[in-house]
Amino acid sequence: MADQNSGSHSGGEFDIIAKYFRPLSKGSDGALGLLDDAAILDVPDGQSLIVTTDAVVAGVHFLESLSPEDIAHKVVGVNLSDLAAMGAIPKAVFLAAQFTSDLSTDWISAFANGLQSALKPSGAVLMGGDTVSTPGPMAFTITALGHAPKGRALHRANAKPGDVVFTTGTIGDGALGLAMLLGEVKDLSSEHAAHLARRYARPEPRWTLGAELLKTGLTVAAVDVSDGLVADIRHICEASNVDAVIEAEQVPVSEAARAVLEMKPELFNTVLTGGDDYELVFTAPQDSVADIESMGEAQGLQITAIGRIEEPGTLGQGRIAVVDAHGIPLELGAGGYQHL
Ligand code: ADP
Ligand code: MG
Repeated sequence: MADQNSGSHSGGEFDIIAKYFRPLSKGSDGALGLLDDAAILDVPDGQSLIVTTDAVVAGVHFLESLSPEDIAHKVVGVNLSDLAAMGAIPKAVFLAAQFTSDLSTDWISAFANGLQSALKPSGAVLMGGDTVSTPGPMAFTITALGHAPKGRALHRANAKPGDVVFTTGTIGDGALGLAMLLGEVKDLSSEHAAHLARRYARPEPRWTLGAELLKTGLTVAAVDVSDGLVADIRHICEASNVDAVIEAEQVPVSEAARAVLEMKPELFNTVLTGGDDYELVFTAPQDSVADIESMGEAQGLQITAIGRIEEPGTLGQGRIAVVDAHGIPLELGAGGYQHL
């Protein structure tokens, strides 16, 4: 259906693929230079292919005002983050791009540059996709493929009562960044504003830690924080049939988020439930805490214990309580962003 796909970008679909996407397929013979009908992948002996797909739609999953580079980072980041949560090492991505016909080739070129820089740290290669034109909104779907040793992955169902709940990095920057870009948070220093904007637009998927956790052989349940800290921990609780208690004061926040919370303490709710952080939240047995902390140090990655897993039924239907320093549960409203 190439003629229907072409759209009005100068040069059309095939020139766009050749000019902007083919360079990103270098490094993978199986991509066949994006010149064939499909790509060829071999999986090394003893490894499983771990596969995920995620779409981002302008106005739903990202602000249309983001730069093309940022949009590319977002769609790559959300997908590699899902691989991270399984403990997989990213190898390849496939991109279905729906460009609106008003986008210039400069925009597409900048988008491709963003893809390249987002893929670079992991070494994952663009191995194929589809390019279509749409009246709107623009949307991008990536399918990401990674490897993990056969029979081993960080399943959500792995949490057990007595386990400790950890998070990487800081929580809340993504949602506060979005609130700031929407004009709901003002008067931040330029440094703090830049930090939040970057954290919203450019997720840093924690696949190096995911792969490292898998190597330990510990029974780890992991999830990446996309819907919100509380909602995502609830995903682990439901899959594992356990409850969780999270200590509000232990939840790590950035200096920029702290500056927001000094002005608007009520936004702590947004920190806990807002989403878009793409940090890794995981559970591990109590006696592995020291090993996990040193793993974080070795990777230069902040890892913080924020709570514990309890027997099911301890906390009623909600399965999860966020408690203050006195152990009193906080009221949290809906408990996480639900995508449309
Ligand atoms: P067909 O019309 O047979 O579906 P396409 O013209 O869509 O084929 O694609 C031709 C080649 O270009 C394929 O190898 C496909 O994987 C690749 N390709 C198309 N769009 C993209 C894209 N956005 N990113 C990467 N590869 C792409
Ligand atoms: Mg096609």
